[in-house]
Amino acid sequence: DTAAPVTSVGEPLPVLGSEVTVPLVTGGNVGYAALDYAASAPALQRVWDDVAAYAPYYGSVHRGAGYLSQLSTELFEQARATVTEFLGCRPDDQLVFTRSTTDSLNLLAAALPEGCHVYVFETEHHASLLPWTAHTVHYLDAPRSPEQAVATLREALAARPAQAPALVCVTGASNVTGELWPVRELAAAAHESGARIVLDAAQLAPHHPVDVAALDVDWVAFSGHKLYAPLGSGVLAGRADWLREAEPYLAGGGASRKVARRADGGVEVEWHRTAARHEAGSPNVIGAYAIASACKALTEAGFATLVARENHLIDKVRAGLADVPEVRVLSLFGEAAPRVGVLSFVVEGWNSSHFAAALSAEYGIGVRDGLFCAHPLLRTLLGAEDEAPGECGAPEAAPGERALNAVRVSFGAGTPDEHVDRFVAAVR
Ligand code: PMP
Repeated sequence: DTAAPVTSVGEPLPVLGSEVTVPLVTGGNVGYAALDYAASAPALQRVWDDVAAYAPYYGSVHRGAGYLSQLSTELFEQARATVTEFLGCRPDDQLVFTRSTTDSLNLLAAALPEGCHVYVFETEHHASLLPWTAHTVHYLDAPRSPEQAVATLREALAARPAQAPALVCVTGASNVTGELWPVRELAAAAHESGARIVLDAAQLAPHHPVDVAALDVDWVAFSGHKLYAPLGSGVLAGRADWLREAEPYLAGGGASRKVARRADGGVEVEWHRTAARHEAGSPNVIGAYAIASACKALTEAGFATLVARENHLIDKVRAGLADVPEVRVLSLFGEAAPRVGVLSFVVEGWNSSHFAAALSAEYGIGVRDGLFCAHPLLRTLLGAEDEAPGECGAPEAAPGERALNAVRVSFGAGTPDEHVDRFVAAVR
């Protein structure tokens, strides 16, 4: 799935913000080069247009007989159908609209059956690493190849308690190295041992097609704001059974089918068994609509074309940095491993925070620096022994100390060649 045929490199898709100019410390203004897609990608113009056309007319879904409420209900449910199709879900899967990938994985964590064992690589983003602590968590060592990842998981699962339910949580593409993980093989390993698997597709879905049925993953989670839609909406899609049996993620209106006082004075609730069970309150209809619009735009542009263009940009970055001896690109699987348009590096003699600040101030380039909410992975990649302050940002090193941080450049469907060329020239 990762090696889509190179058809044509094509043009970047129109995105918001490409017209923004920023002042440089050296004088004058320059067009802003947004190279932090992995944090939040700019909205596609198409998504913005769709949202602008609908946004003034929102109403509360599933609640009203009035026209705007009916319209919103229809658009919300159409969005669910569009995203379900985009993800290649099985016919009886459920798709819950959430606030983000973090929210989706926390929802799933709250829905796990009692006694569940969770298997997660230490290399994960904190959103995938941390939600499971109410269960028995097995943290797996960072693998140094996709094959080793599968072997490590197999070995861990072989030792799992036979009767206990089990879940594997794995990322499709790393938010630090951009490397693609062997999702299909990991899913096969999980299923052979009777475990289930959830795919964190926050970094995969914006770059590659995610086909839940073909990959044979049980659930998938991603965020709208990394998929060219605005902040505040996300998705959890997959097997209905555990979701249906779980306590509602939020208790409230919309999740409850019937509520009545009991004879003993308490309250009896019958909860929905559909996605509504976990969507209590007035949902973010505009966010769901925006995600659906982005899914349509990416499908229409065609992932083969998008991947070809992105690979062309990745090649430029790789080639541009390859002969800069001070630059060390961070990688688990080897620098030539397949990746999405996400790449982190350190520069000898530089604190990464200062390097990123210089890219911004002197070249108008927006990148991310820090630990990327993946502290154990950064420690593995940088070989750091010391403790970093407990935050996602970039800790400052004391004088004479090496800071535990890196620079991350990331791009996607809206990135023009000029941004990547400017970045490479700036680093060089
Ligand atoms: N997983 C990965 C791989 C990510 O890159 C991110 C965001 N950086 C998340 C999960 C969390 O996404 P969100 O902040 O939208 O919840």
